[in-house]
Order: sequence, then structure tokens, then C-alpha cells
Amino acid sequence: MLQKLYSLLGSWTKALDILYVHEGVKPCCRVLDVDGLSDILKEMKLSYETSDFGVEMQKNVGGSYTDKGKSVKEGGRRVLYVSKDAQSAKEAKQAESEQNHKRLGLLLGYPCCCVEFFQEHAEKEEESDFDLTVNVAAASVGVKHPWHTNTCLRGFDVNLLSHFPCSFQCEQSKEIAEKNLAIIKKHESDLAQYFVHALQCALIYARGVGVYSFKRAAMDRNIMVYDSRHLVSSSKNSFHDLLIRENKIALLGKQHFLVGKTKVQDDQTFFALFS
Ligand SMILES: [Zn+2]
Repeated sequence: MLQKLYSLLGSWTKALDILYVHEGVKPCCRVLDVDGLSDILKEMKLSYETSDFGVEMQKNVGGSYTDKGKSVKEGGRRVLYVSKDAQSAKEAKQAESEQNHKRLGLLLGYPCCCVEFFQEHAEKEEESDFDLTVNVAAASVGVKHPWHTNTCLRGFDVNLLSHFPCSFQCEQSKEIAEKNLAIIKKHESDLAQYFVHALQCALIYARGVGVYSFKRAAMDRNIMVYDSRHLVSSSKNSFHDLLIRENKIALLGKQHFLVGKTKVQDDQTFFALFS
């Protein structure tokens, strides 16, 4: 079933969202409609509601996607609200039509703390791409976080959460990630292994620039030594070139570090170590 959903949706994380609902660990999910999806949902005995509005996917710098309003007539796709019971799907559709982010978030099974966090920050981000990753990092303590809540690799289609946690230390989000991982293990153990391996990394997230993940890096106090052959970048740009040329990062704070001798200090950029 997961493979079938993946080939239709072209995304593991979207396919998994539907699987989580089917397995009963998520009450409802929101997914963009594609040809053939409703047939699979019926086959899975899931209920769904269809939005009255249309959206289109927009790729952000950094590789993640946001949906922006676009009329169905002009080629926009409708949103499906999927749940086991017909009522939740109906309520989710209604909550979004009323732009009630809080109600929608709770119906989608997100923790209350994270729903409030989203509401608080999304309003300020209204004109942007709803990417709250930098806000999550700012609300997190230090640079070391549990890998379960690593939502920085969304653009790489690797994520155990479908919401932004209120911090990388959010316990309720970690619990959801663990439940979701158990479902992936049950259906596709290789994928579960790949996710866990990818999520355990050091990374630099530079909003609007790119996401840079370091594997097999060694951290000694505030110095990280890495092998640039294991660098995975969402964007091949001048920052990527700098990281390739160097092999050492000296941390002075989560938003302040030296790559070789080049100083990076930016409130839209952070370093994090997920282990
Ligand atoms: Zn939370």
C-alpha cells in the first residue's frame, strides 16, 4: 500500500501521512489531490472531503514545498482531508475554509503546544513560505537535539513529523515521531532505517539559501571536523562551495560560527546537531 501511495504522490512523507491515518496513529491528514488518489482511499476504506479551493505546490529555496492558492480553473489542485471517520475530515475541511489554523492543527493531531507555536509565528510569516524551521531552532535550547524531531530535511523528503514542533525538544512531538517510525518499520523497514540514518546528522539550515547536512562529522567541544565528501546540500551555491573547500566549523553560538576562517552570523541561519 505504501509503495502504491508513493508512486502516485511522488513523496514518502505524503504517502506516510495517509498511512498514519490508516494505521490509526494520526486522526486526519491533508494532502493535495492527484488522479487516482480517491480510488486508493476508497480501497483503504478511508473517508475524505475535498476542498472548495485549489492550490499549487511551490518549491522553496532549500527544497521544501509550500502550497499557494491557485484556482482549480487555472490548474490548481484541490486539497483532500483524509480520516477514518467521516466527521474528522468534514471538520478539517471546515476549519481550513474558516482559516482556523488552531482548530485545523488539533484535528490533524498536532500537539497543542505546537499548534499554538504555529499560530503565533505563522501570522508573522503570512507573506512568506510558512517555513518556521528557523523559529523552531530559535525556540530550542542549545545546538544538540533528539533526531526524532529533526524537521530540517523536509526538502529531502525525510521527516517523521508533519508539523513544526514548538522546539526540537518538544516531548509530545518526539512521541509522535516514535509512533510514526514504528509504522514505517512495520511496512518498509529499509525506509525506516534510511530515515533514522539521515535524521541523525549535523546540519546548517540557511533560510532562503539551502540546507547542508554533514554525515560522519566529529564534534569536539565547539569544533566540528567533517569530510566534505559526505556533505549533502539542497543547493549547489557559493555557501556549498565554501563548505566543500573547508573541513572545520567552529561554533560560537547556534547562529554564529566560523567555516574555516569565514564568519557566519545570521538570524535566518542556524547550526544543529541531531543525535
Ligand atoms: Zn510542542
